[in-house]
Amino acid sequence: MTDPIDRSTGDQDSSSEADSARSGGSDQHEDTDADTETPPTSPPDLDDVVLDNLDTGSDGSDEASRGLFDDLLEGEPIFENKEVLRPSYTPHKLPHREEQINNMATILVTALRGDTPSNILIYGKTGTGKTASAKFVSEELETTSQKYEVPCEVEYINCEVTDTQYRVLAQLANKFIDKNTEVIDDRVAELDDLRSRAREDEAALDGTEFTGVEGIDERIESLEEDKAGFEEVPMTGWPTDRVYSSFFDAVDYHERVVVIMLDEIDKLVEKSGDDTLYNLSRMNSELENSRVSIMGISNDLKFTDFLDPRVKSSLGEEEIVFPPYDANQLRDILQARSDVAFKGDALSDDVIPLCAAFAAQEHGDARRALDLLRTAGELAERGQTDQVEEAHVRQAQEKIELDRVVEVVRTLPTQSKIVLFAIILLEKNGVHSINTGEVFNIYKNLCEEIDADVLTQRRVTDLISELDMLGIVNAVVVSKGRYGRTKEISVSVPTEETEAVLLSDSRLGDIEDVQPFVQARFDN
Ligand code: ADP
Ligand code: MG
Repeated sequence: MTDPIDRSTGDQDSSSEADSARSGGSDQHEDTDADTETPPTSPPDLDDVVLDNLDTGSDGSDEASRGLFDDLLEGEPIFENKEVLRPSYTPHKLPHREEQINNMATILVTALRGDTPSNILIYGKTGTGKTASAKFVSEELETTSQKYEVPCEVEYINCEVTDTQYRVLAQLANKFIDKNTEVIDDRVAELDDLRSRAREDEAALDGTEFTGVEGIDERIESLEEDKAGFEEVPMTGWPTDRVYSSFFDAVDYHERVVVIMLDEIDKLVEKSGDDTLYNLSRMNSELENSRVSIMGISNDLKFTDFLDPRVKSSLGEEEIVFPPYDANQLRDILQARSDVAFKGDALSDDVIPLCAAFAAQEHGDARRALDLLRTAGELAERGQTDQVEEAHVRQAQEKIELDRVVEVVRTLPTQSKIVLFAIILLEKNGVHSINTGEVFNIYKNLCEEIDADVLTQRRVTDLISELDMLGIVNAVVVSKGRYGRTKEISVSVPTEETEAVLLSDSRLGDIEDVQPFVQARFDN
């Protein structure tokens, strides 16, 4: 696969890079490695590589050259192989996904019999193992098809990255053009060889479709012509129907079954509608040599509500659901990974159960569980302890949560940032039970200060509700008896950090003295 976002091969690259960096020059790790079971070839963490390179630049292990990093390197490292905890790593065993994987395989095995498999739609929340399972199945499928020499190909596209019809079709067209080129090159090489043998002895042609060397010449010429006719689709600029026909011709160039995996398919539909799916799902009636089957993967259970009914029924011929993992299942997943990721007894007993419990609350997200475990390990490493403890997991949970908040706040639209800033200012000045009117007054002043448009109070109320849904503020409706109802607003994220993120926005950074605005509250 030449998929740019498939980083499983990238991982191998980085570890072999790491190995060669280690073998060059004096290696300060040798002592540490000698008294543990670390095989000398095990890939070290990338961070180490950088340090190694620094070391080899100086005069090696000479005491005089001990620098900033030496003490840090001395501590017994916690990790054996941190890479296996990263999201980019594709595991070869997926506990608690046997049923889903078998279902996929049962449907796709049709392709190995030369028929068209039903289209499949896979649903499940983030971190339930959809991508990992689909990639696992597709690798197995391709391997088996090579073994039995049945032409079957799987193409993986991540629609969060490739999110328009043009780009999906262009990417597919170019992948198939590459594959067709390879097929032609192989065939030409074969024919070339046959031709040389036939020139020496005509008998070489016995049992082939050729009666003379001229026939081979012609065939090679026509293949070369086909190849010259393939035109790479540019990433922009062509009319969509031209891109589509390039893709169509490339797929139909020779007989085969093609499985197109569209991961994060809901993002594609959300951004660009269902035209791509419509076009893909009706291709089979026009293809002459090949057959296409689609496997869509969605995080959003309801995304088919937005599809054209024809697309919906075609795409959902088979549906497979990936339920959230429970805490016990997450434990198994973490255990399997940690055996490879950590040194012998680097984890204290309660670490995995706690990571599993936190992630189970987070809708059974295995990605979150692995993040927690990796971050806890990194915190322990940084603290120069030799064991990961429960406290590291709790710290990791806070860190990940804060990172999430920072990211959400950083990417808010400017107007929402101003509203949030107004709420924070009120809270910092000791105002309790903040209401919408108060927020609006401060908001208005802030807008004037930085020359932003002032929205209506009604819109500001909507923005507050959005911040509530994002979990950044908490807005509860309280009844004020005969005075009607109002909202009581409070900030539900760490204020200092959030304020810092807001002020790092170039527009909000212009706000100079905030005190007068808060005073304004008392003028009304
Ligand atoms: P999704 O695509 O559903 O959002 P992923 O397949 O990307 O989820 O899984 C998230 C992370 O959890 C990945 O690192 C993946 O390797 C890991 N993971 C998920 N399910 C399992 C499992 N059953 N066994 C081992 N690792 C898993
Ligand atoms: Mg995924």
